[in-house]
Amino acid sequence: MNIAIILAGGIGSRMKMGTLPKQFLMINDRPVISHCLVTFNNNKNIDGILIVCANEYRAFLSEWIEKLNINKFIHFANPGENRQFSIINALNSLEKINPENIIIHDAARPFVSDVLIDSCIDGLRDNKAVMPVLPAEDTFYYSENGLHVDSLLKRSTLFRGQAPEGFNYISYLNANRSLSHEELLEINGSSEAAVKCGIEVALIEGDKRNFKITTAEDLDLFKSLCDN
Ligand code: C5P
Repeated sequence: MNIAIILAGGIGSRMKMGTLPKQFLMINDRPVISHCLVTFNNNKNIDGILIVCANEYRAFLSEWIEKLNINKFIHFANPGENRQFSIINALNSLEKINPENIIIHDAARPFVSDVLIDSCIDGLRDNKAVMPVLPAEDTFYYSENGLHVDSLLKRSTLFRGQAPEGFNYISYLNANRSLSHEELLEINGSSEAAVKCGIEVALIEGDKRNFKITTAEDLDLFKSLCDN
């Protein structure tokens, strides 16, 4: 069984566009999150969809779940103090279901494709963790203070991680449970928890269209792609 965990528990503090988190903004008469919900719901390999979402947005989201006939929706989980703690709440809420795999996606990545979801699930046949990546196109420099370059990085060894990331449920749950509160607070991407616990993360080909809406510029790009 493959369960999709859709993370919509963030408050979008980097967007600076009012109080509504980016994943709930209405663009062309539908919320940003609705795009990935429809894609996951229509994917033949996905058996259930769990959404991490604060109480105050659940009524709004439930209306859209009904309107779009998201019939694989199973339940909501509570947001945590950062993205990784939101994931942990979702993992804990799945203990009874005990799925084989989980696929973790950001509600703020509207253009996830069926092909990418299938690639994640295919990758989990031979791996306990998979992550879509894009090769680094710019040259990256390491700077501890952000003012001067400390050292050089080899571009061919650098990759940009995307969601959805796929994990064997039990392995990933145990990995998260073995990390300290401080370690979990430092995590940005889902795969970091796996790497920290020695789980090998297989890289699969990411997708440029699967960008995350983070800033107002990203939102403009999303709007322009929706219009075309
Ligand atoms: O903040 P960032 O853009 O990295 O968030 C990525 C995704 O994680 C978003 O969809 C956001 O709603 C979600 N998130 C969450 N719980 C948090 C922080 C972020 O579900 N505490």
